[in-house]
Amino acid sequence: MLRQAMLALSKSRRAERLVTTSPLTADVVRRYVADDIAAVVGALTRDGLLVSADHLGEEVHDPAQAEAAVATYVSLLALLPPGSDVSVKLTALGLRQSQRLATANAAAICAAAADKDVTVTLDAEEHDTVPGLHAVHAALRRDHPDVGVVVQAYLPDSLDRCEKLGGARVRLCKGAYTAPGAYTRPADIDRSFVRCLKVLMAGTGYPMVATHDPRLLRIASALAVLDGRDMTGFEYQMLYGVRPEEQARLAGLGARVRVYVPFGSDWYAYLMRRLAERPRNLAFFLRSLLSR
Ligand code: FAD
Repeated sequence: MLRQAMLALSKSRRAERLVTTSPLTADVVRRYVADDIAAVVGALTRDGLLVSADHLGEEVHDPAQAEAAVATYVSLLALLPPGSDVSVKLTALGLRQSQRLATANAAAICAAAADKDVTVTLDAEEHDTVPGLHAVHAALRRDHPDVGVVVQAYLPDSLDRCEKLGGARVRLCKGAYTAPGAYTRPADIDRSFVRCLKVLMAGTGYPMVATHDPRLLRIASALAVLDGRDMTGFEYQMLYGVRPEEQARLAGLGARVRVYVPFGSDWYAYLMRRLAERPRNLAFFLRSLLSR
């Protein structure tokens, strides 16, 4: 219930105005969103972590805004060390205007990223954009075979998706939105996550295990061993500000751990999705407002 309410709020312009104009939210935002992307990337990489940088922003309304998003990503590349990744939302590149526009914009980012030894991963968004996401991903893979894509385990066809994505870089996550017919019970989502993980770990691609869930992390590492993948054959991914001690622990064991670092002023919807995931995050948010 609370999760649904928070996700509904994430789309409310009125709530957005209220939250983003309040000076009281700054501390909470800083916990999940990099205020200085170069400094945060520098600190994380010094600690042995990899990064995927995400310029916040979704749902552009005209091609010029999408072009501006491409330019931001291209200039971001100068700040990233080789081996980094950028996470891209296709709705920010014009997917809702046309698949062709989003493909051309994403291809421009992939080409610039390849020059810097940086990979690109396409985030998964609202369910109605998922077919377009996979169509764009398939088109991009012809020229950029290492472009990654996200699969959301809460979608009942996620297993089928994983089976079709042989050889690809695939980030598996639970799913942060809502979708008709999606699994909603945590046990069902977890079961789907594990089914997908088994296919990805046994497959020929590069699995990116995006979760903070201790049980799923243990299952991922056991499956990697069973499938004969060494520490370079897959990676863990976690969000900036979430379980940083676990990120450091896994990296200390020699695992590849990538931190997803969002930055930019358009943080409202992202923050609301993080608060929806965990009532304790919401309590932290409210406490920090009340303690002023
Ligand atoms: P949850 O069910 O949220 O948490 C499970 C357990 O993890 C908790 O019980 C707790 O033990 C631990 N935990 C979780 N949060 C905390 C915390 N703050 N502190 C301490 N312990 C905690 N979703 C999309 O829909 N599309 C995307 O493209 C996408 N990309 C993502 C990229 C990355 C790198 C990550 C990590 C997530 C991404 N997500 C994306 C979000 C994802 O779908 C989930 O909504 C989010 O990761 C929360 O799910 P979880 O697997 O961490 O498990």
